[in-house]
Amino acid sequence: MSEDFFPQEIIRKKRDGQPLTEAEIQFMVRGITDNSISEGQIAAFAMAVFFRDMPMQERIWLTKAMVMSGDVMDWTKADLGRPVVDKHSTGGVGDKVSLMLAPIVAACGGAVPMISGRGLGHTGGTLDKLDSVPGYNTAPDQTLLTKVVKTVGCAIIGQTSDLAPADRRFYATRDVTATVESIALITASILSKKLAAGLDALVMDVKYGSGAFKTEYEDAEELAKSIVSVANGAGMPTTALLTDMNQVLGTTAGNAIEVRETIDFLMGNHQDPRLLEVVTALCSEMLIITGIADETTAPLAVHGALKSGSAAERFAQMIAALGGPKDLMTNPDKHLPLAPIKKDVIAPKRGFISAMDTRAMGVAVMDLGGGRHKATDAIDYSVGLTNIKGIGDKTGPRAPVATIIARSQDAADRAEKRILSAITLSDEAPAKRPVVKRKLTLEDL
Ligand code: URA
Repeated sequence: MSEDFFPQEIIRKKRDGQPLTEAEIQFMVRGITDNSISEGQIAAFAMAVFFRDMPMQERIWLTKAMVMSGDVMDWTKADLGRPVVDKHSTGGVGDKVSLMLAPIVAACGGAVPMISGRGLGHTGGTLDKLDSVPGYNTAPDQTLLTKVVKTVGCAIIGQTSDLAPADRRFYATRDVTATVESIALITASILSKKLAAGLDALVMDVKYGSGAFKTEYEDAEELAKSIVSVANGAGMPTTALLTDMNQVLGTTAGNAIEVRETIDFLMGNHQDPRLLEVVTALCSEMLIITGIADETTAPLAVHGALKSGSAAERFAQMIAALGGPKDLMTNPDKHLPLAPIKKDVIAPKRGFISAMDTRAMGVAVMDLGGGRHKATDAIDYSVGLTNIKGIGDKTGPRAPVATIIARSQDAADRAEKRILSAITLSDEAPAKRPVVKRKLTLEDL
Protein backbone atom coordinates (compact mmCIF):
# COMPACT_ATOMS: atom_id res chain seq x y z
CA MET A 1 0.00 0.00 0.00
CA SER A 2 2.70 2.46 1.04
CA GLU A 3 4.39 2.42 -2.40
CA ASP A 4 1.25 4.09 -3.82
CA PHE A 5 2.09 7.28 -1.96
CA PHE A 6 4.71 10.01 -2.18
CA PRO A 7 5.20 12.32 0.81
CA GLN A 8 5.44 15.38 -1.43
CA GLU A 9 2.05 14.60 -2.98
CA ILE A 10 0.43 14.30 0.45
CA ILE A 11 2.09 17.55 1.53
CA ARG A 12 0.82 19.20 -1.70
CA LYS A 13 -2.74 18.02 -1.01
CA LYS A 14 -2.64 19.44 2.51
CA ARG A 15 -0.99 22.64 1.24
CA ASP A 16 -3.86 23.09 -1.24
CA GLY A 17 -6.52 22.41 1.40
CA GLN A 18 -7.66 19.06 0.07
CA PRO A 19 -8.80 16.34 2.48
CA LEU A 20 -6.42 13.51 3.34
CA THR A 21 -7.37 9.86 3.63
CA GLU A 22 -6.59 7.66 6.63
CA ALA A 23 -4.10 5.67 4.52
CA GLU A 24 -2.24 8.86 3.55
CA ILE A 25 -1.99 9.98 7.17
CA GLN A 26 -0.82 6.51 8.23
CA PHE A 27 1.82 6.64 5.49
CA MET A 28 3.15 9.99 6.75
CA VAL A 29 3.32 8.76 10.36
CA ARG A 30 5.06 5.54 9.32
CA GLY A 31 7.61 7.59 7.39
CA ILE A 32 8.18 9.91 10.36
CA THR A 33 8.78 6.87 12.60
CA ASP A 34 11.09 4.89 10.31
CA ASN A 35 12.98 7.98 9.03
CA SER A 36 11.97 7.39 5.40
CA ILE A 37 10.43 10.88 5.42
CA SER A 38 13.00 13.66 5.72
CA GLU A 39 13.01 16.42 8.33
CA GLY A 40 12.26 18.91 5.53
CA GLN A 41 9.17 16.96 4.56
CA ILE A 42 8.00 16.74 8.19
CA ALA A 43 8.48 20.51 8.49
CA ALA A 44 6.54 21.20 5.27
CA PHE A 45 3.74 18.86 6.33
CA ALA A 46 3.53 20.51 9.77
CA MET A 47 3.42 23.98 8.20
CA ALA A 48 0.74 22.88 5.72
CA VAL A 49 -1.35 21.55 8.63
CA PHE A 50 -0.67 24.74 10.58
CA PHE A 51 -2.21 26.87 7.80
CA ARG A 52 -4.83 24.48 6.40
CA ASP A 53 -5.74 22.72 9.65
CA MET A 54 -7.25 19.25 9.93
CA PRO A 55 -10.93 18.39 10.38
CA MET A 56 -11.71 16.25 13.47
CA GLN A 57 -11.68 13.02 11.46
CA GLU A 58 -8.15 13.67 10.18
CA ARG A 59 -7.03 14.54 13.73
CA ILE A 60 -8.44 11.21 14.95
CA TRP A 61 -6.61 9.31 12.18
CA LEU A 62 -3.37 11.18 12.94
CA THR A 63 -3.69 10.44 16.66
CA LYS A 64 -4.41 6.76 16.09
CA ALA A 65 -1.54 6.39 13.62
CA MET A 66 0.83 8.01 16.13
CA VAL A 67 -0.38 5.63 18.87
CA MET A 68 0.36 2.67 16.58
CA SER A 69 3.91 3.95 15.89
CA GLY A 70 5.05 2.26 19.15
CA ASP A 71 3.98 0.10 22.06
CA VAL A 72 0.52 0.34 23.62
CA MET A 73 0.29 -0.57 27.30
CA ASP A 74 -2.21 -3.25 28.16
CA TRP A 75 -3.39 -3.06 31.76
CA THR A 76 -5.94 -5.89 31.38
CA LYS A 77 -3.15 -8.44 31.91
CA ALA A 78 -2.24 -6.82 35.25
CA ASP A 79 -5.72 -7.57 36.62
CA LEU A 80 -5.80 -4.32 38.58
CA GLY A 81 -9.45 -4.57 39.49
CA ARG A 82 -9.72 -0.76 39.21
CA PRO A 83 -10.33 1.58 36.29
CA VAL A 84 -7.16 3.02 34.77
CA VAL A 85 -7.38 6.81 34.59
CA ASP A 86 -5.04 9.75 34.19
CA LYS A 87 -5.02 13.53 34.13
CA HIS A 88 -3.00 15.70 31.76
CA SER A 89 -2.35 19.40 32.14
CA THR A 90 -1.27 21.76 29.40
CA GLY A 91 1.13 23.20 31.98
CA GLY A 92 1.66 26.28 34.05
CA VAL A 93 3.61 27.81 36.91
CA GLY A 94 3.38 26.12 40.32
CA ASP A 95 1.22 23.36 38.84
CA LYS A 96 1.98 20.54 41.27
CA VAL A 97 -1.55 19.09 40.95
CA SER A 98 -0.37 15.71 39.60
CA LEU A 99 1.66 15.03 42.75
CA MET A 100 -1.39 15.21 45.00
CA LEU A 101 -4.01 14.04 42.50
CA ALA A 102 -2.48 10.63 41.71
CA PRO A 103 -2.43 9.44 45.36
CA ILE A 104 -5.88 10.92 46.08
CA VAL A 105 -7.46 9.08 43.13
CA ALA A 106 -5.57 5.91 44.10
CA ALA A 107 -6.96 6.22 47.64
CA CYS A 108 -10.47 6.56 46.16
CA GLY A 109 -10.23 3.39 44.04
CA GLY A 110 -8.66 4.42 40.71
CA ALA A 111 -5.43 3.15 39.15
CA VAL A 112 -3.23 6.04 37.98
CA PRO A 113 -0.19 5.16 35.87
CA MET A 114 0.85 8.74 35.17
CA ILE A 115 3.40 9.39 32.46
CA SER A 116 4.77 12.87 32.98
CA GLY A 117 7.20 15.19 31.29
CA ARG A 118 10.03 17.52 32.15
CA GLY A 119 9.69 21.28 32.19
CA LEU A 120 10.87 23.61 29.47
CA GLY A 121 10.90 27.40 29.51
CA HIS A 122 8.69 29.08 32.10
CA THR A 123 6.60 25.99 32.99
CA GLY A 124 7.67 23.32 35.44
CA GLY A 125 7.55 19.57 34.83
CA THR A 126 6.21 16.97 37.25
CA LEU A 127 9.16 14.71 36.53
CA ASP A 128 11.69 17.37 37.55
CA LYS A 129 9.83 17.82 40.82
CA LEU A 130 10.07 14.09 41.53
CA ASP A 131 13.72 14.03 40.48
CA SER A 132 14.37 16.29 43.48
CA VAL A 133 13.44 13.35 45.75
CA PRO A 134 16.64 11.35 46.38
CA GLY A 135 16.49 7.78 45.07
CA TYR A 136 13.09 8.11 43.32
CA ASN A 137 13.18 6.18 40.06
CA THR A 138 11.23 7.92 37.29
CA ALA A 139 12.14 5.20 34.76
CA PRO A 140 11.11 1.85 36.26
CA ASP A 141 10.81 -1.17 33.97
CA GLN A 142 7.35 -2.45 33.05
CA THR A 143 7.42 -5.11 35.78
CA LEU A 144 8.12 -2.62 38.58
CA LEU A 145 5.65 -0.09 37.15
CA THR A 146 2.89 -2.71 37.05
CA LYS A 147 3.72 -3.85 40.59
CA VAL A 148 3.58 -0.30 41.97
CA VAL A 149 0.31 0.54 40.18
CA LYS A 150 -1.17 -2.72 41.42
CA THR A 151 -0.07 -2.43 45.05
CA VAL A 152 -0.16 1.34 45.62
CA GLY A 153 -2.68 2.42 42.97
CA CYS A 154 -0.49 5.10 41.39
CA ALA A 155 2.96 5.63 39.91
CA ILE A 156 4.25 8.85 38.39
CA ILE A 157 7.02 8.11 35.90
CA GLY A 158 8.67 9.50 32.76
CA GLN A 159 7.94 8.92 29.11
CA THR A 160 9.48 5.73 27.74
CA SER A 161 11.02 5.67 24.28
CA ASP A 162 8.58 3.00 23.12
CA LEU A 163 5.39 5.05 23.56
CA ALA A 164 4.31 7.04 20.47
CA PRO A 165 7.84 7.40 19.01
CA ALA A 166 6.39 9.25 15.99
CA ASP A 167 5.48 12.11 18.31
CA ARG A 168 9.07 12.50 19.49
CA ARG A 169 10.43 13.06 15.97
CA PHE A 170 7.42 15.08 14.83
CA TYR A 171 7.54 17.34 17.91
CA ALA A 172 11.31 17.93 17.60
CA THR A 173 10.77 19.28 14.07
CA ARG A 174 7.68 21.30 15.03
CA ASP A 175 9.66 22.85 17.88
CA VAL A 176 12.21 24.38 15.48
CA THR A 177 9.82 25.31 12.66
CA ALA A 178 7.23 27.46 14.52
CA THR A 179 4.50 24.86 14.12
CA VAL A 180 3.98 23.74 17.73
CA GLU A 181 0.90 25.99 18.03
CA SER A 182 -1.30 24.06 15.59
CA ILE A 183 -4.27 22.83 17.64
CA ALA A 184 -4.63 19.75 15.42
CA LEU A 185 -1.00 18.80 16.01
CA ILE A 186 -1.06 19.57 19.76
CA THR A 187 -4.17 17.38 20.08
CA ALA A 188 -2.57 14.42 18.31
CA SER A 189 0.70 14.87 20.19
CA ILE A 190 -0.88 14.86 23.67
CA LEU A 191 -3.46 12.18 22.97
CA SER A 192 -1.18 9.73 21.16
CA LYS A 193 0.92 9.44 24.34
CA LYS A 194 -2.16 9.09 26.56
CA LEU A 195 -3.81 6.48 24.33
CA ALA A 196 -0.54 4.53 24.20
CA ALA A 197 -0.60 4.43 28.02
CA GLY A 198 -3.67 2.18 27.75
CA LEU A 199 -6.03 4.38 29.79
CA ASP A 200 -9.73 3.67 30.33
CA ALA A 201 -10.36 7.39 30.66
CA LEU A 202 -8.63 10.78 30.74
CA VAL A 203 -9.33 14.15 32.32
CA MET A 204 -7.64 17.18 30.75
CA ASP A 205 -6.69 20.32 32.61
CA VAL A 206 -6.51 22.96 29.89
CA LYS A 207 -5.07 26.13 31.33
CA TYR A 208 -5.54 29.69 30.11
CA GLY A 209 -4.03 32.97 31.24
CA SER A 210 -0.71 34.74 31.59
CA GLY A 211 1.24 31.63 32.69
CA ALA A 212 -0.38 29.15 30.31
CA PHE A 213 0.60 27.77 26.93
CA LYS A 214 -2.65 29.31 25.58
CA THR A 215 -2.95 32.75 27.12
CA GLU A 216 -6.41 33.56 25.67
CA TYR A 217 -9.41 31.74 27.11
CA GLU A 218 -10.98 31.28 23.64
CA ASP A 219 -7.85 29.52 22.33
CA ALA A 220 -7.71 27.25 25.39
CA GLU A 221 -11.38 26.40 24.91
CA GLU A 222 -10.77 25.55 21.25
CA LEU A 223 -7.93 23.23 22.31
CA ALA A 224 -10.13 21.64 25.00
CA LYS A 225 -12.90 21.04 22.46
CA SER A 226 -10.46 19.47 20.02
CA ILE A 227 -8.99 17.17 22.69
CA VAL A 228 -12.39 16.07 24.04
CA SER A 229 -13.69 15.43 20.52
CA VAL A 230 -10.61 13.54 19.25
CA ALA A 231 -10.05 11.50 22.43
CA ASN A 232 -13.64 10.31 22.50
CA GLY A 233 -13.50 9.73 18.73
CA ALA A 234 -10.44 7.54 19.27
CA GLY A 235 -12.28 5.53 21.92
CA MET A 236 -10.99 7.06 25.18
CA PRO A 237 -13.70 8.73 27.32
CA THR A 238 -12.33 12.20 28.09
CA THR A 239 -13.59 15.42 29.67
CA ALA A 240 -11.74 18.71 30.14
CA LEU A 241 -11.69 21.44 32.74
CA LEU A 242 -10.62 24.94 31.77
CA THR A 243 -8.67 26.39 34.70
CA ASP A 244 -7.14 29.77 35.43
CA MET A 245 -3.39 30.31 35.13
CA ASN A 246 -3.41 34.09 35.57
CA GLN A 247 -1.50 33.57 38.80
CA VAL A 248 0.81 30.93 40.25
CA LEU A 249 -1.11 27.85 41.41
CA GLY A 250 -0.55 27.33 45.13
CA THR A 251 2.09 29.21 47.11
CA THR A 252 5.31 27.75 45.70
CA ALA A 253 7.16 27.41 42.40
CA GLY A 254 10.29 25.34 41.98
CA ASN A 255 11.07 21.65 42.25
CA ALA A 256 11.92 20.36 45.77
CA ILE A 257 9.96 23.39 47.04
CA GLU A 258 6.80 22.18 45.28
CA VAL A 259 7.29 18.67 46.70
CA ARG A 260 7.33 20.31 50.16
CA GLU A 261 4.04 22.08 49.37
CA THR A 262 2.62 18.74 48.20
CA ILE A 263 3.59 17.05 51.47
CA ASP A 264 2.05 19.91 53.48
CA PHE A 265 -1.09 19.67 51.36
CA LEU A 266 -1.47 15.92 51.74
CA MET A 267 -0.68 16.02 55.47
CA GLY A 268 -3.30 18.76 55.95
CA ASN A 269 -0.76 21.31 57.23
CA HIS A 270 -1.38 23.89 54.50
CA GLN A 271 -3.88 23.76 51.63
CA ASP A 272 -4.00 26.83 49.42
CA PRO A 273 -7.72 27.32 48.60
CA ARG A 274 -7.29 27.74 44.81
CA LEU A 275 -5.03 24.70 44.63
CA LEU A 276 -7.51 22.69 46.71
CA GLU A 277 -10.31 23.73 44.35
CA VAL A 278 -8.41 22.64 41.23
CA VAL A 279 -7.27 19.37 42.83
CA THR A 280 -10.81 18.60 44.05
CA ALA A 281 -12.38 19.40 40.67
CA LEU A 282 -9.90 17.28 38.67
CA CYS A 283 -9.91 14.31 41.08
CA SER A 284 -13.72 14.41 41.19
CA GLU A 285 -13.89 14.40 37.41
CA MET A 286 -11.61 11.32 37.34
CA LEU A 287 -13.87 9.53 39.83
CA ILE A 288 -16.99 10.50 37.86
CA ILE A 289 -15.68 9.55 34.41
CA THR A 290 -14.65 6.09 35.68
CA GLY A 291 -17.97 5.55 37.50
CA ILE A 292 -16.26 5.32 40.91
CA ALA A 293 -18.42 8.19 42.22
CA ASP A 294 -21.04 10.68 41.05
CA GLU A 295 -21.24 14.48 41.06
CA THR A 296 -22.31 14.51 44.72
CA THR A 297 -20.13 11.77 46.17
CA ALA A 298 -16.90 12.50 44.24
CA PRO A 299 -15.83 15.70 46.09
CA LEU A 300 -16.74 14.05 49.40
CA ALA A 301 -14.52 11.07 48.53
CA VAL A 302 -11.64 13.41 47.61
CA HIS A 303 -11.88 15.38 50.85
CA GLY A 304 -12.29 12.12 52.78
CA ALA A 305 -9.03 10.77 51.29
CA LEU A 306 -7.27 13.96 52.37
CA LYS A 307 -8.78 14.14 55.87
CA SER A 308 -8.24 10.46 56.70
CA GLY A 309 -4.59 10.60 55.63
CA SER A 310 -5.10 7.81 53.11
CA ALA A 311 -3.95 10.01 50.19
CA ALA A 312 -0.80 10.98 52.14
CA GLU A 313 -0.21 7.29 52.83
CA ARG A 314 -0.49 6.42 49.11
CA PHE A 315 1.99 9.17 48.24
CA ALA A 316 4.45 7.87 50.85
CA GLN A 317 4.01 4.31 49.53
CA MET A 318 4.58 5.42 45.92
CA ILE A 319 7.76 7.31 46.85
CA ALA A 320 9.14 4.34 48.82
CA ALA A 321 8.11 1.73 46.22
CA LEU A 322 9.99 3.66 43.53
CA GLY A 323 13.18 3.95 45.58
CA GLY A 324 12.67 7.22 47.49
CA PRO A 325 13.07 7.72 51.26
CA LYS A 326 10.60 5.90 53.51
CA ASP A 327 10.35 8.88 55.86
CA LEU A 328 9.92 11.68 53.29
CA MET A 329 6.56 12.79 54.72
CA THR A 330 7.79 13.10 58.28
CA ASN A 331 11.33 14.25 57.50
CA PRO A 332 11.17 16.40 54.35
CA ASP A 333 14.01 18.66 55.54
CA LYS A 334 16.35 15.69 55.75
CA HIS A 335 15.80 14.75 52.10
CA LEU A 336 14.68 17.75 50.06
CA PRO A 337 17.40 20.24 49.11
CA LEU A 338 16.92 23.92 49.97
CA ALA A 339 19.29 26.61 48.64
CA PRO A 340 20.96 28.82 51.30
CA ILE A 341 19.81 32.36 50.42
CA LYS A 342 16.36 33.53 51.51
CA LYS A 343 14.98 36.89 50.44
CA ASP A 344 11.53 38.40 50.95
CA VAL A 345 10.19 40.43 48.05
CA ILE A 346 8.58 43.59 49.41
CA ALA A 347 6.32 45.64 47.11
CA PRO A 348 7.16 49.37 46.86
CA LYS A 349 3.75 50.39 48.28
CA ARG A 350 0.83 48.95 50.22
CA GLY A 351 -2.05 47.67 48.15
CA PHE A 352 -3.64 44.64 46.59
CA ILE A 353 -2.19 42.43 43.88
CA SER A 354 -4.55 43.02 40.96
CA ALA A 355 -2.69 41.17 38.17
CA MET A 356 0.29 38.88 37.73
CA ASP A 357 2.47 38.18 34.70
CA THR A 358 2.64 34.51 35.65
CA ARG A 359 4.96 33.65 32.81
CA ALA A 360 7.48 36.16 34.24
CA MET A 361 7.17 34.43 37.64
CA GLY A 362 8.07 31.15 35.90
CA VAL A 363 10.99 32.83 34.15
CA ALA A 364 12.19 34.10 37.56
CA VAL A 365 12.30 30.48 38.79
CA MET A 366 14.05 29.38 35.59
CA ASP A 367 16.63 32.16 36.01
CA LEU A 368 17.28 31.04 39.61
CA GLY A 369 18.33 27.71 38.06
CA GLY A 370 15.05 25.89 38.69
CA GLY A 371 14.10 25.51 35.02
CA ARG A 372 15.52 24.95 31.57
CA HIS A 373 16.19 27.33 28.67
CA LYS A 374 16.87 24.31 26.46
CA ALA A 375 16.07 20.61 26.87
CA THR A 376 19.67 19.63 27.76
CA ASP A 377 20.08 22.15 30.64
CA ALA A 378 20.66 20.83 34.17
CA ILE A 379 18.31 21.94 36.95
CA ASP A 380 18.97 23.14 40.50
CA TYR A 381 16.21 21.41 42.48
CA SER A 382 16.83 23.46 45.62
CA VAL A 383 15.79 26.92 44.37
CA GLY A 384 12.45 28.60 43.76
CA LEU A 385 9.78 30.74 45.36
CA THR A 386 7.69 30.20 48.48
CA ASN A 387 4.92 32.17 50.23
CA ILE A 388 3.75 33.44 46.83
CA LYS A 389 0.79 35.77 47.16
CA GLY A 390 -2.12 35.72 44.76
CA ILE A 391 -4.50 38.15 43.11
CA GLY A 392 -6.54 39.97 45.75
CA ASP A 393 -3.89 39.51 48.48
CA LYS A 394 -2.59 42.53 50.39
CA THR A 395 1.04 43.56 50.16
CA GLY A 396 3.04 45.78 52.46
CA PRO A 397 6.29 45.99 54.46
CA ARG A 398 5.26 42.98 56.52
CA ALA A 399 3.38 41.14 53.78
CA PRO A 400 5.96 40.08 51.15
CA VAL A 401 4.82 39.19 47.65
CA ALA A 402 6.97 36.03 47.81
CA THR A 403 10.11 34.63 49.38
CA ILE A 404 13.00 33.80 47.06
CA ILE A 405 15.15 30.73 47.75
CA ALA A 406 18.38 31.16 45.80
CA ARG A 407 21.94 29.87 45.41
CA SER A 408 23.50 33.31 45.47
CA GLN A 409 22.67 36.89 46.44
CA ASP A 410 23.02 37.96 42.80
CA ALA A 411 20.48 35.40 41.64
CA ALA A 412 18.10 36.48 44.42
CA ASP A 413 18.45 40.16 43.41
CA ARG A 414 17.65 39.33 39.77
CA ALA A 415 14.61 37.28 40.78
CA GLU A 416 13.39 40.12 43.00
CA LYS A 417 13.42 42.54 40.03
CA ARG A 418 11.54 40.08 37.85
CA ILE A 419 8.89 39.44 40.51
CA LEU A 420 8.33 43.13 41.25
CA SER A 421 7.80 43.86 37.57
CA ALA A 422 5.53 40.80 37.22
CA ILE A 423 2.90 42.08 39.65
CA THR A 424 0.44 44.94 39.34
CA LEU A 425 -0.81 46.65 42.50
CA SER A 426 -4.09 48.48 43.04
CA ASP A 427 -5.61 50.44 45.89
CA GLU A 428 -8.88 48.54 45.72
CA ALA A 429 -9.28 44.77 46.04
CA PRO A 430 -9.86 43.32 42.54
CA ALA A 431 -12.99 41.27 41.75
CA LYS A 432 -12.69 37.54 42.49
CA ARG A 433 -12.18 35.26 39.49
CA PRO A 434 -13.16 31.61 39.29
CA VAL A 435 -10.26 29.16 39.23
CA VAL A 436 -12.27 26.42 37.47
CA LYS A 437 -14.00 28.28 34.68
CA ARG A 438 -15.74 25.53 32.78
CA LYS A 439 -16.16 21.79 32.37
CA LEU A 440 -16.32 20.49 28.82
CA THR A 441 -17.77 17.10 27.96
CA LEU A 442 -18.60 15.36 24.70
CA GLU A 443 -22.23 16.49 25.10
CA ASP A 444 -21.11 20.14 25.04
CA LEU A 445 -19.58 19.88 21.58
N1 URA B 1 2.54 19.18 24.77
C1 URA B 1 2.70 18.07 24.01
O1 URA B 1 2.90 16.97 24.52
N2 URA B 1 2.63 18.21 22.68
C2 URA B 1 2.39 19.38 22.06
O2 URA B 1 2.33 19.43 20.85
C3 URA B 1 2.24 20.54 22.86
C4 URA B 1 2.31 20.40 24.22
